[in-house]
Amino acid sequence: MIKTRGYAAHSGDQPLQPFQFERRALGAGDVQIDILYCGVCHSDLHTARNDWGNTLFPSVPGHEIVGRVAAVGDQVDGFKVGDMVGVGCMVDSCQHCPSCAEGLEQFCDNGFTSTYNGSSLGGAENTYGGYSDTIVVRQEFVLHIRHTDNLAAVAPLLCAGITTYSPLRHWSVGPGQKVGVVGLGGLGHMGVKLARAMGAHVVLITTSPNKRDDALRLGAHEVIISTDAKQMLGAMNSLDFILNTVAAPHDLNALLSLLKRDGTMTLVGAPAEPHPSPEVFRLIFKRRKLAGSLIGGIAETQEMLDFCAEHNIVSDIEMIPIQDINEAYERMLKGDVRYRFVIDMGSLDSN
Ligand code: NAP
Ligand code: ZN
Repeated sequence: MIKTRGYAAHSGDQPLQPFQFERRALGAGDVQIDILYCGVCHSDLHTARNDWGNTLFPSVPGHEIVGRVAAVGDQVDGFKVGDMVGVGCMVDSCQHCPSCAEGLEQFCDNGFTSTYNGSSLGGAENTYGGYSDTIVVRQEFVLHIRHTDNLAAVAPLLCAGITTYSPLRHWSVGPGQKVGVVGLGGLGHMGVKLARAMGAHVVLITTSPNKRDDALRLGAHEVIISTDAKQMLGAMNSLDFILNTVAAPHDLNALLSLLKRDGTMTLVGAPAEPHPSPEVFRLIFKRRKLAGSLIGGIAETQEMLDFCAEHNIVSDIEMIPIQDINEAYERMLKGDVRYRFVIDMGSLDSN
């Protein structure tokens, strides 16, 4: 077993605090990684606070992991000691169901194993995530990092990047299309950068007027303030596709009205409480579609990392020591993140 230091929540109403635990010993097909950086996803907060009512405590969140390979098992052929690698939201899946066979492990018929809050892999506990100094992962779920000059800013690609890349690709976003991205947070700012790099005309839709300049700098061609009824009215029936990243329940009708005939709005935000049901008439009169999307498969995650390396895309980050994680969550709840917190895991040494 491998002694590991991290931070954990012990219940939904307590702050995260230092926590020591053990990782499984390195298996033949495993990669052991010294974690350098871990991004802070809103899903970490939802889980630590038990928003979704399914948290296994103690909970060590973190699924935007970047680090250096420290050891490899005898049968590992894709990685060697010293490689820079990433781990995202999944650490295992059955590998034989039709979804896994298609490279869609996130839809594994037998349920994929989450990097945290998943069922344990041979141990008595649940899986523990990246707010820690070491992780052991089977090689099929380890990603190669090719743009290593700004590693901390690469970390958020492992969830925020793939969760926005996958639906943009699935719904064939590209040149000639007008694409709306709703919410300028961790996911939203990656959605803007990626949709722009794919050649679309990008419209950022936000509740925060003070994010307008940042949105334009990040790659949006236009910004709509969703609380301004006049601006929303002016953009009716104008968008081919909308990627909705908002982390809280909100009115979907006003956003659906922005879609052209046959347009699709895909939800990736996963609020604790449901959205008010959208009006059927908003959908049927223009044959609009409301859809959802979950992270992305492993092969597509590698494709996204390579796409980002090629297009020089990383996340805009604010680096924090692990000791500031509880304050970071409070700021995230206020939408006060520009645009992803990343934990410098070296800060665990200061405990
Ligand atoms: P985030 O950084 O906190 O960003 C969420 C954004 O939503 C905010 O910046 C804000 O943008 C907007 N927003 C509007 N009203 C809000 C409210 N009342 N409370 C909170 N946000 C509000 O979060 P994130 O890490 O991007 O994650 C967004 C959501 O996606 C979360 O629910 C997360 O669990 C989920 N998620 C889903 C997947 C998936 O696979 N489907 C993967 C990862 C995360 P403006 O200020 O611009 O309005
Ligand atoms: Zn996430």
